[in-house]
Amino acid sequence: MSKVNEAVSKFKKVDISYDYSTLSEDVKNALPHLKKAMDVMTTIFLQQQKKDLPKTYTEVMSGNDNEKKEFWKLFKGPWSQLEDFKSVYPEFKDRPAGCAFYPEDLTKEEWENALSDMSEEEKAVATDHYSVIVRDENKLKAVPYHVYFADELAEAFEHLENAAEKVENKILKEYLISRAEGLVSGNYRDSDALWVKMKDAPIDLVIGPYEVYADAFMGIKATYEAFLMVVDHEKGNRLKEVEDNLQNIAKIFPVPAGSKAAVGKIAPMIVVHQIYSSGEAAQGIMASAFNLPNDAWVRGNVGWKQVMIYNMMQAKFNNATMKIADKISHGRIKAEFDPYFYFVLMHEVSHGLGPAYRANGVAVSKSLGKHYTAIEEAKADIGGLYILLKLGGQYGIPQFGKEKIFDSFFAGLFRSMRFGVHEAHGAANVLEFNWFKEQGVIKVLDNGDFETDSTKLIELTETLLNELCRIEAEATPEEAEAFLKKYAVPGNDILDALAKLSDIPIDIRVEYSL
Ligand SMILES: [Zn+2]
Repeated sequence: MSKVNEAVSKFKKVDISYDYSTLSEDVKNALPHLKKAMDVMTTIFLQQQKKDLPKTYTEVMSGNDNEKKEFWKLFKGPWSQLEDFKSVYPEFKDRPAGCAFYPEDLTKEEWENALSDMSEEEKAVATDHYSVIVRDENKLKAVPYHVYFADELAEAFEHLENAAEKVENKILKEYLISRAEGLVSGNYRDSDALWVKMKDAPIDLVIGPYEVYADAFMGIKATYEAFLMVVDHEKGNRLKEVEDNLQNIAKIFPVPAGSKAAVGKIAPMIVVHQIYSSGEAAQGIMASAFNLPNDAWVRGNVGWKQVMIYNMMQAKFNNATMKIADKISHGRIKAEFDPYFYFVLMHEVSHGLGPAYRANGVAVSKSLGKHYTAIEEAKADIGGLYILLKLGGQYGIPQFGKEKIFDSFFAGLFRSMRFGVHEAHGAANVLEFNWFKEQGVIKVLDNGDFETDSTKLIELTETLLNELCRIEAEATPEEAEAFLKKYAVPGNDILDALAKLSDIPIDIRVEYSL
């Protein structure tokens, strides 16, 4: 199999259809305009990766090399996301660490020197998430996105205004107009704040520059993306009780003496079905939940919104997660979607609970340094597991029974380990596996298969959660490192199991019907 084919074949093709008859006429009429606005995000995202990529992309897509088309459609360029964006075609170079956010030959030294020569104002623009760095007569200059991509954004503005004209829902209309203005003015805060508050609209749209994953040079530049989603109010209402009881849920979380939890702002949760995505949100591995905006001012002063993408999560679960559990246990471990869905939700909730600041006032993230993310991801996992085990039947949390909860959690462990055992989520999962194995909750059979025993599960989960929260509240970075060295290193049992999963899809490849 060619490299091109091999990468694509790891993604299972899934048709995402939606019954649009459930939507009102005004919303249906807005969808084509929204789709056009979203396609502009793909054009900009391609340019952000490589300046002339939109042209090459169009050539590939209008050509007749189907294998190439599939690859480019999935990965939005000639690079494989499964191999750190290395090119799979000899005629293309690997994606530069700084994509096209910076001049390709820029060194860290030149960057630092240029920053020290800038005024405070220029420096603020150069180091924020929303500017491109260009060379202007041998001098580095920052151009804000809304200026650099002005033509494309003007087009997106028109489409969003047209969509806003069609829709009747008041807050949705207001948000679309505000977001359109935000994109062309570079002021994203007003629309971000409106978006957090928008909960009762029939559809939801995220559009613009958000995440900084693609910037491997400095980790500061955001890429354009968009998600279009139908809001499932029935499923969302079931989470309302959870949302209203966050204070009660927080009570079972250990916050060791002196440390402090984060201050709670509004944090609505919605359940959606994704009907279209573009830009970075349509590249490679699909998101199944997100929490936005990232802007610290909006998070601190207004809050954030938790979005659970039901259809994506379900498609990923059916095509990968469930099959993993089945394969490495020969059917003994029975993962189910509902407990898995609530586990993912409670993982996100748990990120906001437990110690955030130490007794000395310093943030936990700062105190633990580079060990923080792995410990924090483990805390969110174990916190999520503990909430389901301890509070099932209360506060809107379904009672699934501890076997089902643990089996579904277990399947998720191996899902993320496949993306890498050293990355924060993967390392956290290895830690959890090894800890539960040491305590006898996970058993490795002679043939390498796994079995779970939930007899003492609740007490043991509580013990591990206490330890993780203690590390966050008090441990030195050396202590955290020792804990990770002891538990977060995969043994042969894990490596052998991962090797058996090679024929199970890594993720899904989505075909939208919109
Ligand atoms: Zn997390």
